[in-house]
Amino acid sequence: MNELDTETLRRYDSEYLWHPFTQMSEWENAENIIITRGEGSYIIDSDGNRYLDGVAAIWTNVHGHCRQEINEAVKEQVDRLEHSTLLGLSNDRAALLAKRLIDIAPPGLAKVFYSDNGSTAVEIAVKMAFQYQQQVGNTQKQKFIRFDNAYHGDTVGSMSVGGIAIYHEVYAPLLFPTIKAPSPYCYRCALSPEGDCHSCGLLCLQELERLMKEHAHELAGLVIEPSVQGAGGMIVQPPGFVKGVRELCDRYDVLMIADEVAVGFGRTGAMFACGKEGVTPDIMAISKGISAGYLPLAATLTTRKVYDAFWGAYSELKTFFHGHTFTGNPIACAAALASLELFEKDRLLEQLPEKIEYIQDRLQRLMELSHVGDVRQEGMIAGIELVRDRHSRDPYPWEERVGVRVCLEARKHGLFLRPLGNVIVVFPPLSISLDELAILMDGIEASIRSVTE
Ligand code: PLP
Repeated sequence: MNELDTETLRRYDSEYLWHPFTQMSEWENAENIIITRGEGSYIIDSDGNRYLDGVAAIWTNVHGHCRQEINEAVKEQVDRLEHSTLLGLSNDRAALLAKRLIDIAPPGLAKVFYSDNGSTAVEIAVKMAFQYQQQVGNTQKQKFIRFDNAYHGDTVGSMSVGGIAIYHEVYAPLLFPTIKAPSPYCYRCALSPEGDCHSCGLLCLQELERLMKEHAHELAGLVIEPSVQGAGGMIVQPPGFVKGVRELCDRYDVLMIADEVAVGFGRTGAMFACGKEGVTPDIMAISKGISAGYLPLAATLTTRKVYDAFWGAYSELKTFFHGHTFTGNPIACAAALASLELFEKDRLLEQLPEKIEYIQDRLQRLMELSHVGDVRQEGMIAGIELVRDRHSRDPYPWEERVGVRVCLEARKHGLFLRPLGNVIVVFPPLSISLDELAILMDGIEASIRSVTE
């Protein structure tokens, strides 16, 4: 391959590339890193500098970068079949992966509908729930409950069920109306300002019940990121919340849509976050970790009950009229199958408790820093919320971009991090070693100190 020097690559990048979620006036004037290689927990730039990947290639990487076994599976598949279609045909990898996904999914999920990214997996879930209600005769049930601080993607449907104003407000006229429930955000709880999730009796769940009771007649579904609201700031839900949501959905005949795009595939310490509270959602969206960060792949899983509502003669027009060109791409499915084999071969989930405990210890230490307001953790996910004033919980003004500054500082320590506002995110590949975790947490601590003290 023709290797280009860093200067040329930077020039091409700033001249021709438009980056996601990026103010390009800042980007074009910065000395940007161009990644050319990956190795285990590290990404390597065009000058050979190594960065510990603290955000796992935007929350996707599971077994490390360029893991030999997945590389081989992808190469083999490219030589056998690169793509066909699931419209009028099937392919062996897609069929086998569907079976493997159902084997590991929460019990009761029975069918797999593929797509290519998390937003679309959620969009499909919403359409599926809507059409289900129409086809079982609940024609009034057309609305969805969404949570404040939720993030489910960038397509119009997935934005409609999201709750992050800064991303979604400009598109408000395009979005369909929904019913907004409060975020289960203990540190900044809108319902119980003391922020004590242990003694409040889950006020957020009580408020959710009030909303569900009032709107049950018109509710098709509820969309939730189980266990952790990711892009909202790694907001960890109080224990029992997911189970409580399941119970309310059952009570008010509302389909529960679990968006496990970020938390699925071992991230919370269990294969799926719903499983931690013994919950089976009616519909579950997965992506990111599904192919271990290798290729765009997503899936929307559902139960036999939902699937059966689409069953009928073609003339009844109950078909799920949805599908994408690259649905069930065999190379992506081969990567996903190889990843699932590695979960077993490496006994990956069994390796996690020690790492989770280590992160927990280090987070406790961070609470001693004067501008760390809150630390939150669920398995291999953590959020460190920086505040201007610990006692009042007064946040840094967003314009000061303290999170961004900490992450830029972290580069001096050989880390790549990406913040969520003033929340520093810890989301490394699950395969990270304890030594590498120590480097990550040392670098984060030093960077927070240097920027905030
Ligand atoms: N849902 C959740 C919970 C996510 O965290 C994300 C992305 O971060 C999405 C959906 C959207 O996924 P994608 O960026 O692949 O469209």
